[in-house]
Amino acid sequence: MSGEQTYVIVGASLAGAKAAETLRTEGFDGRLMLIGAEEERPYERPPLSKDYLRGEAGRDKVYVHDAGFYSEHDIELRLERRVVGLDLSAGEVALDDGERLRYDRLLLTTGAEPRRLAVPGAELDGVLYLRSVEDSDALRQRLDRGGAVIVVGAGWIGAEVAASARQRGLDVTVLDPLTVPLERVLGGEVGAIYRDIHADHGTKLLMGTGVEAFEGETAVERVRTSDGHELDCDFVVVGVGVEPRTELAAKAGLTLDDGIAVDERLRTSAPAVFAAGDVANAYHPFYGERIRVEHWANALNQGPAAARSMLGGGEAYERLPYFFSDQYDVGMEYSGFARSWDRVVLRGDPGKREFIAFYLVRDRVVAGMNVNVWDVTNPIQSLIRDRVPVDDRRLADPDIPLAELVGAATRPRLPDAPS
Ligand SMILES: Cc1cc2nc3c(=O)[nH]c(=O)nc-3n(C[C@H](O)[C@H](O)[C@H](O)COP(=O)(O)OP(=O)(O)OC[C@H]3O[C@@H](n4cnc5c(N)ncnc54)[C@H](O)[C@@H]3O)c2cc1C
Repeated sequence: MSGEQTYVIVGASLAGAKAAETLRTEGFDGRLMLIGAEEERPYERPPLSKDYLRGEAGRDKVYVHDAGFYSEHDIELRLERRVVGLDLSAGEVALDDGERLRYDRLLLTTGAEPRRLAVPGAELDGVLYLRSVEDSDALRQRLDRGGAVIVVGAGWIGAEVAASARQRGLDVTVLDPLTVPLERVLGGEVGAIYRDIHADHGTKLLMGTGVEAFEGETAVERVRTSDGHELDCDFVVVGVGVEPRTELAAKAGLTLDDGIAVDERLRTSAPAVFAAGDVANAYHPFYGERIRVEHWANALNQGPAAARSMLGGGEAYERLPYFFSDQYDVGMEYSGFARSWDRVVLRGDPGKREFIAFYLVRDRVVAGMNVNVWDVTNPIQSLIRDRVPVDDRRLADPDIPLAELVGAATRPRLPDAPS
């Protein structure tokens, strides 16, 4: 029966490629098309600011599948093709070369793109952004030449690029309007630990200030900051967040809400149309609200979940958000989702950069970040998911195994988190 059907995936991304793989492993034997605007077959982006950027890992490390995978599984991979229109009533997508493709089910995995800085001089040569493998190649060529780089934005991309550039020996300055790096997600206390990590590696941090203008003849030569500094540089990397790519969905009239709004089975407001990955703002049963997650693990897992949903089965997507980051010799993993918290409890030694930071609301952990401490994701996620009431002193005590605290789940649970 499914052999007569056509499923189309727009966005040859991690989420899209994993969805295509899952459709085949779950037995879909109809026509399957994976359409991507980029030249490369689906790849993973995390190495692009880390070892791939530093030239320590080759391109073969980044691909989601071997080159032969798509033809072996009868997946029609169309690269360097952009979908420019979506006709919901006809059940068709229009490609940039004029071709129209009929679909029975459609998955949108169009991802996100860097937010652009709209300041004078933003168009100057040498003002770089990082999203694609081509961006990473261009940035690596700059790193090869050395010199001084100014990184605008001390979020994840900015912090990782700054670390990679320092590791390559460049003179690095980071600027950001907030007071410490990564403050929006990690808060002031833990962000200050990251500030010290960067400072210890010789990165200059200019916090509490933004960009007024980029200046130079044809290429950027200096950055003028909002607090009056003039900083000379050889190039600039801007990492000020991403925006979900919703143009297609918007034109077609799908419901949007900071991304494409989908339910817990990743269904959009239109029948037969699904969305997953960075672009999807998905209802999350555990949180009781929609959340949009811009992380690798979400793309990795939501793609397959969307595929199962397209096939009419599957389960609600309710994995806890998880991400990782590597900066210098400091690796971390973060589980959970916290817009706000009452306090942070630290276990371990932040001075040695080996610790876990727990984010609490009342006496319950809502998120946890392990830094250079490994194999603790499961107990951290259990603390969050089981809503285990915790005692700060026991949480902070590294001699009490986390598994023992999780065991406390046999005690009465707290009611669900307030929104
Ligand atoms: C440099 C970098 C480092 C990162 N590091 C980490 C990390 O350490 N940890 C972590 O958890 N996350 C990290 N991330 C985030 C992670 O890579 C993203 O969450 C993930 O790539 C999202 O995947 P996606 O499949 O949703 O979409 P994307 O990766 O954004 O891919 C979407 C694809 O769809 C294509 N597309 C869009 N519109 C169309 C159209 N109309 N027609 C055809 N094709 C289209 C795009 O060209 C793109 O190829 C990093 C991201 C970057 C950029």
